[in-house]
Amino acid sequence: MPPVAAANTTPRALHDLTFGELERALVASGLRPLHTRALWRALHRDLTADLGARADFVPPLQRWIAENVGVGRPFFADAPAASADIASSDGLTRKFLLRLNDNQSVETVLMGFTGRHTACLSTQAGCAMGCVFCATGQMGFVRHLRPGEIVAQVRHAQLALQATRQAGLRNLVLMGMGEPLHNYDAVMTALEIISDRRGLNIGPSRITISTVGVVPGILRLAEEKRPYHLAVSLHGATEAERSALVPASRRWPLAELIAACRAYGAETGRRIFFEWTLIEGVNDSAAQAERLAELLAGIDAHVNLIPLNPTGGFAGTPTRSDAAKAFQQVLQAAGFPSTVRQRRGIDVAAGCGQLRAEKTRERPLAAAA
Ligand code: SAH
Ligand code: SF4
Repeated sequence: MPPVAAANTTPRALHDLTFGELERALVASGLRPLHTRALWRALHRDLTADLGARADFVPPLQRWIAENVGVGRPFFADAPAASADIASSDGLTRKFLLRLNDNQSVETVLMGFTGRHTACLSTQAGCAMGCVFCATGQMGFVRHLRPGEIVAQVRHAQLALQATRQAGLRNLVLMGMGEPLHNYDAVMTALEIISDRRGLNIGPSRITISTVGVVPGILRLAEEKRPYHLAVSLHGATEAERSALVPASRRWPLAELIAACRAYGAETGRRIFFEWTLIEGVNDSAAQAERLAELLAGIDAHVNLIPLNPTGGFAGTPTRSDAAKAFQQVLQAAGFPSTVRQRRGIDVAAGCGQLRAEKTRERPLAAAA
């Protein structure tokens, strides 16, 4: 059976392929479509590290793997190793720094609640959006992740849970390094792979995409009827206050963002989560909570309040819990449910991008689009 691509073409990651794409690749090199299911199961359900060792595969599939997968062959398998694996002192948060093939590294965080775990995934190495309080924003944009590199984070989290005999992964949040809607196509392919029932089987209703407010991406999610939850990072309820924290607001102004959220809500009928990083004396007053409530009027919204995780490149301090409660009460009086996210695992630098920044002591890079 000939390899499916000439030796000099760029190797492709098997984990980048959706079920349909994998099937086409197998069929293109003479295999029958029915072999796709066995390979897919090995990749995404059994999380097999060494495909060549699968003695249970039928001989044609074994031969295909021997001829097509590996160094110098048309395909390879994504299995990034953790260059750091740190547990928080409360034992509820575990953070991995995964090293990619080009030596870039990204963070994946596993948060444990009784009987269910949530993984926080990265979608880019670095980020181009430059939010001033964010460790990832402070390091600048490096590159987009491929679908397989996003899928591999889920695989790593699952294997870590299995190794400690813990309950499986329940929820995924795309709230790690990077802006998911700036890497739209790769993220959508990854989520299609992750939610496939024949593999990892994490259903769309258990997946949340968090965006800084990339307006065209939000509208596209609605237009394409993508079934995932949406979270929008606001942090300010006036253009001036928001732009000071989120430079991307100059490109997609607050008024346009809220209009896109209204359109998304009307189109999908879904509740939107709004994220608000609470920074003492900057965006945590009762008046600011009132402005936020006015801004969201008429939207089916839930507000997630996140006390700031201090980072090296930003001087702000987190809002104290009494002030966070007062902020929450204003929202509640206006009819908006909200949650103050616990600052779990602060001792493992649990904020987005903080572990990588700490491990590599990076200087900020120039932001690239
Ligand atoms: N790029 C996306 C998703 C990744 S960031 C986005 O911005 O939404 C996920 C969330 O963590 C965002 O709401 C972001 O504003 C918040 N965040 C980033 N750095 C933080 C920090 N140091 N303290 C508290 N929240 C932070
Ligand atoms: Fe990027 Fe999100 Fe960090 Fe802003 S908060 S810099 S969008 S990762």
